Amino acid sequence: MADIFFGTTTTLNRFSFLRSNPDFISKTVTDPESPARLVFYKQDGKNGIHPFLIEQDSQLGLLNLQVNSLPGSLKSIFHKWVEDNKSKSLEIRNQITMVFLGLDEDGLDEKFLFNDNSLSKSFKYPTGYKVQSYPKFKYDKFQGTPYFSVDVTHSRELQDYLLSYQDVKVENNMLSLLTMSKNESSLFAYSKMYMDWLMRNKFCPGCGSKVVPVDAGTRLFCHTPANECPVKSSSVSNVCFPRTDPVIIVGAISADGKKILLGNNKRHPVTTAGKRMFSCIAGFMEPGETIEESTLREIWEETGCSAREVRIASSQPWPFPANLMIGCFGVVHFDGISEIINTSLDNELSDCRWFDVEDVKTLINNGEVEDISLPMEGSIAYELIKSLANGKHQ
Ligand SMILES: [Zn+2]
Repeated sequence: MADIFFGTTTTLNRFSFLRSNPDFISKTVTDPESPARLVFYKQDGKNGIHPFLIEQDSQLGLLNLQVNSLPGSLKSIFHKWVEDNKSKSLEIRNQITMVFLGLDEDGLDEKFLFNDNSLSKSFKYPTGYKVQSYPKFKYDKFQGTPYFSVDVTHSRELQDYLLSYQDVKVENNMLSLLTMSKNESSLFAYSKMYMDWLMRNKFCPGCGSKVVPVDAGTRLFCHTPANECPVKSSSVSNVCFPRTDPVIIVGAISADGKKILLGNNKRHPVTTAGKRMFSCIAGFMEPGETIEESTLREIWEETGCSAREVRIASSQPWPFPANLMIGCFGVVHFDGISEIINTSLDNELSDCRWFDVEDVKTLINNGEVEDISLPMEGSIAYELIKSLANGKHQ
């Protein structure tokens, strides 16, 4: 399934094994020839952490600047971070929190890649800027444009500088974020999930002492000796790594392929257009469950129906704040019992129905079926429903 937001395509090679190489990280930031680029975030006390965005020709993108284009005093903040990263310093978060995202090997959506040496305060993105002409950074046999994300909440100086660009705004409105290009939305999801995780995790869950982002921001380190901290003494300690919460989302269909099971959620009963949105069944996976078990459980708990077969279709990172949507198909064999709907078990749905495939096709083609709507295009729910309607779930 193609064309979903947040995880469809990214041209960034993460090079996860280079994160723990301080010599490499140092060169990407401090080499005067490095084309390393930064995307920016800022915390807002009650609503989490938001990206710095810029709009050009009605296309929204992340503000994306080259570290070497910054004024000297700002560049020195990044050079200090490099030293703190090398020494695992407790001071590393004093001004910025930063994560190495990878090397861009092929170039991002070209509209948002530009040489900001020519960037003035009234700069407008040149459309069609060719990535191939962009200088690449080389280290050993690896090359590309290094990318970092940066939380600038504790640097007023950096914030003021970023906000001085024309048309820059800091926001986290999901609907406007969904207007970004697919590449851009991938970069957003990836960087946002790291920034959000680092914002929420300041202390060691084992001993309560302050933790330090290490390996270029991708791991949290506790300085307490191992024999005094249960986190450090366990051989695998998930708490030190970013959290991902798996959610299964399932498009259920009758075994003969003629009926599709969709529900209207109580939390979002009516859309902004005044329609009732019917979508796939979804829920968080639980400890000790397989994806298949979780899918069967969620279908049964929300709709009362018993599916027999599960197929895993595709997945989608969902950065609000740290989910991984696992898209599945579930097949229900109509036998007079398995297909009977009962939404009173967990009481999450206000309505649930078996829709005729023809009605679902009408909705996909923007036709009218009562006051019903489907999830927005680009969401995994929409893609699952479309695949079911077109018989592509087999
Ligand atoms: Zn600890």
